[in-house]
Amino acid sequence: FLPMTAILSILLMVLTANWLQRRISWRDEIRRAIHARQFSVHYQPVYNNRTQSCTGAEALLRWTLPGGDSIRPDIFISAAEAEGMIVPLTRHLLDLIAEDVQQWQVEPGFHIGINVAADHLQHPAFVDDMLKFADKIKQTPLLITLELTERSLIKDGEDVARKLDRLRADGMKVAIDDFGTGHCSLSYLQTFALDYLKIDRGFINAIESLSGETPVLDAIINLSHKLQLEVLGEGVETALQYCYLRQRGVTFIQGYYYAHPMDNDALIAWLAEHEQ
Ligand code: C2E
Ligand code: CA
Ligand code: CA
Ligand code: CA
Repeated sequence: FLPMTAILSILLMVLTANWLQRRISWRDEIRRAIHARQFSVHYQPVYNNRTQSCTGAEALLRWTLPGGDSIRPDIFISAAEAEGMIVPLTRHLLDLIAEDVQQWQVEPGFHIGINVAADHLQHPAFVDDMLKFADKIKQTPLLITLELTERSLIKDGEDVARKLDRLRADGMKVAIDDFGTGHCSLSYLQTFALDYLKIDRGFINAIESLSGETPVLDAIINLSHKLQLEVLGEGVETALQYCYLRQRGVTFIQGYYYAHPMDNDALIAWLAEHEQ
């Protein structure tokens, strides 16, 4: 017989080795996938109720394996965030976008939404990375919108606020993403100078009729008006949801009802067919 403590320590060693193995492999896999060009960008058009046209799109990363299968963004983005790979991955995303937008024919001021993780915002090179990107795409008259999520907490709010102010002074816009789902939405409103508030899909889902009760959603819309923030409804899937939001003065609409995320070729064709 092995004593209980020996069994336990062997078990612990096996588990630790397994865990280390997994850690190493996500990092390596992402790094390898960058070199193998397995990442690409999809773009989801955003509808502007005021101009009744598409005035922007959000960039969404895609990871396609050689066999054609893909890994879901929420899986590999959280892995990248957990393993210290989100900064290199976002830099790669910016390079991919810079290649794609060379072919875009858009009106000046067309928005390109970029999701930025807390780790990147807190990275000393963040402002430089974004300014370099802006310089790279200057041939295309785009307006960069930085989308901040609350999935991971921003620790040094003051420092990040200064960086965002610097980029806003350079003409970039700042949006708070998935509003209402994290634990710091309201403190973000206090700490950062913002331009857009993106209402999370969960609140849009609650819309069941034009006159129905959606007190939390209504309060968020009122709040954004009060703070003079532009407001966008995310994950809008039905005409009813669209009408409800339009009636309450939500200017921007994003969701399958208007357009799905699409690859760059599809977007170029889509933009040619839709008025901007
Ligand atoms: P998100 O920033 O909230 O992006 C919107 C997500 O909602 C996208 O999922 C989009 O495909 C999906 N969506 C859009 N319209 C609808 C709709 O009408 N109904 C439903 N059910 N879903 C809709 P996706 O592309 O799977 O991305 C998931 C999340 O992964 C994103 O949520 C974002 O947080 C993160 N992510 C994606 N790309 C990037 C990236 O390049 N960088 C970072 N940091 N995060 C990213
Ligand atoms: Ca987003
Ligand atoms: Ca969102
Ligand atoms: Ca979301």
